Amino acid sequence: MATKKKESVQVGKEIIAAEAKTAPEKKTEAEKKTTVRKTAASESAAKKPAEKKTASKAAEKKTASAAGKEEKPGKEKKATVTKKTEAAPAEPEIQEAEPVLPDAGLPEPRRSVAFIGSECYPFVKTGGLGDVMYALPRALVKLNCDVKVILPRYRCIPWEYQEKMVYRGEFMMDLCMDGRCFYIGIMEYILDGVVYDFIDNEEFFSAGNPYTNLVDDIPKYCLFSKAALAALNYLNWIPDIIHCHDWQAGLVPVYLRTLFADTPVASAKTVLTIHNLRFQGIYGIPTIKYWSGLPGWLFDYSFLKQGDNDANMFKGGLAFTDSITTVSNTYAGEIQTPFYGENLDAHLRYHAGKLRGIVNGIDCEIWNAETDPLLAVNYRFDDAVEKKKENKLALQESLGLEKNPDKFVIGLISRLTDQKGLDLVTTILPELLDGNTQLVVLGTGDARYENAFRYYEGNNKGTVCANIMYDEGRAHQIYAGADALLVPSLFEPCGLTQLIAMRYGTVPIVRETGGLKDTVQPYNAYTGEGNGFTFDRYEAGLLLDAVNRAKTLYFTERENWDAMLLRDMEKDVSWENAARQYRELYLQLKP
Ligand code: ADP
Repeated sequence: MATKKKESVQVGKEIIAAEAKTAPEKKTEAEKKTTVRKTAASESAAKKPAEKKTASKAAEKKTASAAGKEEKPGKEKKATVTKKTEAAPAEPEIQEAEPVLPDAGLPEPRRSVAFIGSECYPFVKTGGLGDVMYALPRALVKLNCDVKVILPRYRCIPWEYQEKMVYRGEFMMDLCMDGRCFYIGIMEYILDGVVYDFIDNEEFFSAGNPYTNLVDDIPKYCLFSKAALAALNYLNWIPDIIHCHDWQAGLVPVYLRTLFADTPVASAKTVLTIHNLRFQGIYGIPTIKYWSGLPGWLFDYSFLKQGDNDANMFKGGLAFTDSITTVSNTYAGEIQTPFYGENLDAHLRYHAGKLRGIVNGIDCEIWNAETDPLLAVNYRFDDAVEKKKENKLALQESLGLEKNPDKFVIGLISRLTDQKGLDLVTTILPELLDGNTQLVVLGTGDARYENAFRYYEGNNKGTVCANIMYDEGRAHQIYAGADALLVPSLFEPCGLTQLIAMRYGTVPIVRETGGLKDTVQPYNAYTGEGNGFTFDRYEAGLLLDAVNRAKTLYFTERENWDAMLLRDMEKDVSWENAARQYRELYLQLKP
């Protein structure tokens, strides 16, 4: 049985009662599944008649106000949140928010930041964005920032987290052009000083994966973006900065400066970070206009309009945000050119004055060869050269590769999509396999790449291993056991795999683009400097040349290879530096 608590939540000038309840105690696996599925639904379904009336009244009111003509600038309808004031009956067992008190020695002034994004490790992660949403807030907490991360409460979030979430309140929110209202619940989870608030709505977030198809994703992220702002007002947690991530949160700055302009949260400044410009949330104007409920004038070319008939959610966010960041300096320049600009290069050149690059870091506690519980053998700087061999042997054994520490093992950990330069890899693969080299692939994605790697594995048993799967543990073992990691991307906003590889003493072989260029210094045989091997133009021959240079060093000058391996382990790839730059940016926006 869930236990509940009545708790006060201040919203504007009023104090209202909201329910707080902890998750059920231990359940069987089957019960757990059903409960996860039912939580949101049952919360909505459990509405009392009186509450239903409030919701439908709000809906009627919205229909009346929003069904009218297109609003003009400055005349837009304001966001409406219908608060629920019903108190819960039973007594609570609530996970208390541990106050994060400013320590002596922390930089002043303290700043509050709300992160809004679509994924975050360990709850849900499909790529680098999930890592950043996890690690950057934690690094900011250490720099005297008060951070709240707002995420959708997807059904696929593992039960171990779902069961620890605490109910923080609910309200009905109007969304669409015709004023349809939707249930919004707020579930909270606190970890290491960071507060995670999950926007709960069974109808929108119940798919197995966070991203499905644009037909579903457009309404989902319209609702999420608007609900995130409404939740901040509802919780009366008004941050100095709202830091939005990628297209899924692209409408946040647009809502903030239009429908929320006269609400408390509008005092916040916004930062919008581009983690990957390829995905923008583009769809027909009528659909986005309907679901967002945004005023018609926004669908003008300079804001949301793209081409003749489409609206672009990311484009709107970039226009309205106070500051744009992307995840490396090189990518910040590249996206202002037609080749990398994904049709937004002119828009980004126009907004270049507020655009800058800040290179990502990695979480050095998770990615720590000395303590990593997923490795066959832990190692540190002093014994890395020897212990990496043991990890290599363990990797070869577990993957069915020929066990031999002298083989040159190349790892590739990646989404298997065009972005990642895999056509170059499959082109050179026959020449790569020279009898002394092994290739370990870990990834999922486009069928043509999955099948190509399966094919090569079939023809090269014991030499090539295609792990067509998503597997955190195996990723850790490859980072530790491989000699080199291949990242030949067509474009790479920052790239985390080369940073993780370096931290584990695995030498990156990368194309000089985006963050790969900013983080991997090419090996210089004359000065003995550098962290990896690089090539510039997107050509298979140049990739092969880079791999061959790496092999030559490995097989003929092992002491120089080992010295580079150790240089890589020493490189600062932590979040500290990036977090400091974000903090400076926040202070520029809100001195
Ligand atoms: P992107 O965000 O473009 O996918 P990044 O290099 O920024 O690429 O981040 C990729 C992250 O996802 C890294 O943490 C990497 O280890 C992880 N990753 C990618 N594919 C897999 C996989 N198949 N199994 C486990 N981890 C993976």
